[in-house]
Amino acid sequence: MSESTAGSVLVLNSGSSSIKFQLIHPDTGESLASGLIERIGEPSGRIVYHHGDGAEERNCLIPDHRAGLTMAANIIAETGLDLREAGIVAVGHRLVHGGDIFYEPVFIDNAVVQSISILSSLAPLHNPANVIGIEVARAALPDIPHVGVFDTAFFHTLPPEAATYAIDRDVAEKHGIRRYGFHGTSHQYVSAQAAEFLGKDIAELNQIVLHLGNGASASAISGGRAIDTSMGLTPLEGLVMGTRCGDIDPGVVLYLHQNASLGVGQIDDLLNRHSGVKGLAGVNDFRTLLTLVGEGDESAKLAYDVYIHRLRKYVGAYLVELGGVDVITFTAGVGENNPDVRRDSLAGLGRLGIVVDNDRNNSNSSAARRISSDGSDVQVLVVPTNEELAIARAAAKLVKGSAAPQV
Ligand code: AMP
Repeated sequence: MSESTAGSVLVLNSGSSSIKFQLIHPDTGESLASGLIERIGEPSGRIVYHHGDGAEERNCLIPDHRAGLTMAANIIAETGLDLREAGIVAVGHRLVHGGDIFYEPVFIDNAVVQSISILSSLAPLHNPANVIGIEVARAALPDIPHVGVFDTAFFHTLPPEAATYAIDRDVAEKHGIRRYGFHGTSHQYVSAQAAEFLGKDIAELNQIVLHLGNGASASAISGGRAIDTSMGLTPLEGLVMGTRCGDIDPGVVLYLHQNASLGVGQIDDLLNRHSGVKGLAGVNDFRTLLTLVGEGDESAKLAYDVYIHRLRKYVGAYLVELGGVDVITFTAGVGENNPDVRRDSLAGLGRLGIVVDNDRNNSNSSAARRISSDGSDVQVLVVPTNEELAIARAAAKLVKGSAAPQV
């Protein structure tokens, strides 16, 4: 057993067309090794693996998730790391949809795998990929406890008025239709980090967290408990995202079906993969969008304005729902790196006690930081998210607190 890897957690995030993994120390947060398997099922796939100062990259056909994970395991072994002998205390799986079944991190056994499979109808892109990740990892590392950490779990506390859609109750109950929320691990981690940064007890804080990445979501958190979030039954609701439309009149779906003869699959494709910033401006990467805005591209400008408008709408809604807010925190790729979005989404709110300081907002840093002015009643922060570390900690905690971890 290597001393450096002893006590570490292997975190696996098996997504629809990519898999991320990271070997991480739950106590120190140190990342010992990490990798990305992407473009699974496409003509040309890629595996990147970082370990210590070294990095490996392979471009090859990766037919499916199983093949990708096997290739990754081979690369890891070739670089001299034997995962079975590394002293790993848990494998933490990022799982997307826990439905009404999973509210806490759980040890994964056959019954849990079956439940996650059954929940696939609620997350058809994600849960099946999660299950394959679990199966391959359990077969490769059968003597290590496997722990599932669910993206929906943090939002289990949503009060009924926030979780309920105003549709026929019988239909909703029969099909499990309610608002579940996603990115929960990030919202929970970031809100805890924000309280720590401010040196405040999280129980005393009203918070808004804006997780702005390729997928984007907002949450309202009171005393550490989520009371609302922008994503719903699926990760399609809410903010404008890279390729997803966010909130839309459900009548649009009916209209497209009835008048444009689009089938369910085509509408799914349109709203999930060809909408949002990409649908409006033709690009989904925010850096490219901003370059286009700078060049005077009108479609890009409209996409940016629609994105900001929706964001402000949610900030306003959550301010009122919370009855006032102590801290607003930006996180994820766009939230951590894009000063324009931070400035514009909170511009002109001095009367509400929200003032962003330009110099602080424009300064580059990868650390948690305050960007509000000294006179701002509301603290505005940037806090880097770290879902892998949050999952590693949750998994290690479960294993530590369990007398007899199941394997
Ligand atoms: P995530 O899903 O959290 O990885 O975030 C991905 C998004 O963050 C993409 O739209 C990126 O363009 C955006 N992003 C990453 N770095 C930057 C940056 N330095 N400036 C602006 N946007 C960025």
